Amino acid sequence: MTTFATKPATRGWQGAVLRLLGADDFLLTVTGVDKITDHYVRVYFDDGGLLAHKGVHPTMWIRLWFDNDGKPHQRAYTLVDPDPVAGTFAIEFAIHDGPASQWAEFTFVGDSISSTVMGSSFALPTPAPDGWLIAGDAASLPAINSLLEAIAVSDSPDVPVTVWMEYQHDDEYALPLRMRDDHRVEWVARGTDGTAIVDAVRADVFDATGYHGWVATEAASTRAIATLLRRDYGLGRSAVTAQAYWIAGSI
Ligand SMILES: Cc1cc2nc3c(=O)[nH]c(=O)nc-3n(C[C@H](O)[C@H](O)[C@H](O)COP(=O)(O)OP(=O)(O)OC[C@H]3O[C@@H](n4cnc5c(N)ncnc54)[C@H](O)[C@@H]3O)c2cc1C
Repeated sequence: MTTFATKPATRGWQGAVLRLLGADDFLLTVTGVDKITDHYVRVYFDDGGLLAHKGVHPTMWIRLWFDNDGKPHQRAYTLVDPDPVAGTFAIEFAIHDGPASQWAEFTFVGDSISSTVMGSSFALPTPAPDGWLIAGDAASLPAINSLLEAIAVSDSPDVPVTVWMEYQHDDEYALPLRMRDDHRVEWVARGTDGTAIVDAVRADVFDATGYHGWVATEAASTRAIATLLRRDYGLGRSAVTAQAYWIAGSI
C-alpha cells in the first residue's frame, strides 16, 4: 500500500489559507480502479465521511492533495455518482503529463489521499432555462454528466441541450456521456492550440436568449466560449457559468 497524499501540516500556504477559510479535510481510501481508456481512469473511494458532512450538489468538486517531488500539489476533481448513504464516490481522471493524473494511473486499492472541501457550489438556475449550451472536454466530462443528470430530474427535463466536446485522443469517443437521444453533441478535435472548439461554437450561433451556458475547458477556450455565449448567443453575463478546468502548458 502506498500513501502519496500530503498531510495537512505539509500543505504550505495553500493549506493554511484553506484552513483559515474554514475548509474541511477528509481522508479518502481507494476501493477500486477501472481503466476506461488509455487516457481515462476511474478511481472508486470510500469518502471518510465527506458526503455525510458536506452534502452533494450537481458538478460538485473537491481538492485532492498530491505529492510533487516533496511539495504539496492541490488539484480539483469532480465527484462521480456520490452516494451519501454508502459514503462512496468515484473520480474520473483524464490522463496527461501531471502529478495528479500520474497518481491516478498508478494508484491501488487501499491507497489513501487527503481531500479538502472548499469552493464548490452550483445549483440549477431558477426559473429553469429554455435550453442548455454546454462546452467541455475529458476533464469536465464528469461534471457535464452530473449536470445532464440534474437536468433530467429537474422541472424542465425536455429542454434542448447542445454539448460541444473537445477531445485530445481518438479513444475519448468511447467515454460515456450521459446524454439523451434528443440532445445534440458535437465532438471537436483539440488540435495544437485549442481554437477548434471555439470555432465550432461560433459556427453554430443563434439567438439563445433564455438559455443557460455552462463552460469548462482549457482556460483560453473557456474565456473565448463564455464570451461567445454571452455576446453572440445573447445569454448575457448572469446566464453563463464558466470555469477554466486546466491551463495549457502550465506546470
Ligand atoms: C472545478 C474543477 C473540477 C475538475 N474536475 C476534473 C475531473 O473530474 N477530472 C479531470 O480529469 N480533471 C478535472 N479537472 C482538471 C484538473 O484539475 C486539471 O487537469 C489539473 O491540472 C490536473 O493536474 P495535474 O497535476 O495532473 O497536472 P498539472 O500539474 O496541473 O499540469 C501538468 C501538465 O499537464 C497539462 N494538463 C493539465 N490538465 C490537462 C488536461 N485536462 N488535458 C491536457 N493537459 C493537461 C498542463 O498544461 C501541464 O502542461 C477539474 C478542474 C477544476 C477547476
